[in-house]
Amino acid sequence: AKDVIELGAGIGRFTGEIAQKAKSIIAVDFMENFCEKNKEANGSYGNVEVLCADVTKLNLLYNSADIVFSNWLLMYLSNDEVADLAKKMLLWLRKDGYLFFRESCFHPSGNTQRLQNPSKYRDPACYQKIFQSVYSTDRESISIFALKRMSSVQTYIKHKDNPNQVWWLLQKQQINKMDDYHGYKTFQEFLDNEQYSRNSILRYEKIFGKDFISTGGLETTKEFVGMLDMKEGDEVLDVGSGIGGSAFYMAEKFKANVLGIDLSSNMINIAYERANEREDRRVQFELCDATQREFSDGAFDVVYSRDTILHIEDKLGLFKKFLKWLKPGGRLLITDYCCTDDKWSDIYTEYVKQRGYHLMSPKQYGKVVSEAGFIDVSAEDRTWQFIEVLNRELTNTEANRDTFIKDFGEADYQYILDGWHDKLKRCNMGDQKWGLVVARKPL
Ligand code: SAM
Repeated sequence: AKDVIELGAGIGRFTGEIAQKAKSIIAVDFMENFCEKNKEANGSYGNVEVLCADVTKLNLLYNSADIVFSNWLLMYLSNDEVADLAKKMLLWLRKDGYLFFRESCFHPSGNTQRLQNPSKYRDPACYQKIFQSVYSTDRESISIFALKRMSSVQTYIKHKDNPNQVWWLLQKQQINKMDDYHGYKTFQEFLDNEQYSRNSILRYEKIFGKDFISTGGLETTKEFVGMLDMKEGDEVLDVGSGIGGSAFYMAEKFKANVLGIDLSSNMINIAYERANEREDRRVQFELCDATQREFSDGAFDVVYSRDTILHIEDKLGLFKKFLKWLKPGGRLLITDYCCTDDKWSDIYTEYVKQRGYHLMSPKQYGKVVSEAGFIDVSAEDRTWQFIEVLNRELTNTEANRDTFIKDFGEADYQYILDGWHDKLKRCNMGDQKWGLVVARKPL
């Protein structure tokens, strides 16, 4: 029983469908003949109000809707109009209400498939920037749009080989002004502005290797994926897929179908750009929080995650989900930043706090994966390999100093070198570890 506002309702292709499930629906369009057709088609539902109005001039009651729905509307508006409408949608929605919208997009590189006029095919990152900057405040709280999910429309990929139809699901969240996450309103905003800002991602990629934001890039990926006994057509979930390196490798080498999920919109946007360059539809990406996403039981042959779960506190809860999502006999492979079982130094404590990481030792990792119900669990301390790789990455970066500085500047070059030297120092002090966990779901 939800109250819905449908914007740009056209002749009402969705209106009737929604009316059958909702408590009420206000269907808005500025074309009179469309509104007439919508009334004819759906007027018999007692809960439909068709409103002939221009959405950019629309005024509705604040806190009156649980869902705002729009399909192919925002691409007709200017950036300023989208921003104004976004603010109004936030106000029309009740707390925890959802905004769903779908648009034709234009990816900044690769297969761009421009459709017909009249439209503004934005880069998906542009919509995200607009919606993430919208908020409203009252005395105690701030209301924002939290980006819950975003992906390509699957039907368009399947039938039209077109990944540029993109949908978003945002939720109105009210945050107490006193609660913040390291100075940001949400964890996602923290990631997107700090460790995984677009520039930081590209800077990390320069040292890890093309399409990778994790230890050893393609080299460790080949080694670890080799442990998974993959077969053509395997369904793989890459948790925290970053800009896509592992996903592309598994699809290209093993013809696996890979779904990469990541919480950072900057990561997902770059992954979309890279996927468009490749035009390999076996790899799909979705923006979402792995801890909140649900998949059907037995959806995947492999769950794979590289240097990501350090960001997640409830690891047992997550591993139980992985178990559920895997087919019987399905494989799990994780690499992750870990810590010592012994007492941490002050330097390490400060580093982990500043990054907001949640760490376990390789041994604890193994225990928690077993506790979740996995069998044949192997949890290895691979810190020796981490150190080898860090040294190699340092040597390569120093050898390519001039191109690094040309692309990112002297300060960023120094930042990366210092960061890598600090990681080596923390490993040598015994605090920082790197773990490799492989396990299987019982048959
Ligand atoms: N696995 C990729 C690779 O190997 O290149 C990226 C690793 S990067 C160090 C860690 C990734 O985890 C980031 O892209 C981050 O946005 C993602 N992440 C953190 N918390 C997440 C969550 N709750 N759900 C999904 N992704 C998350």
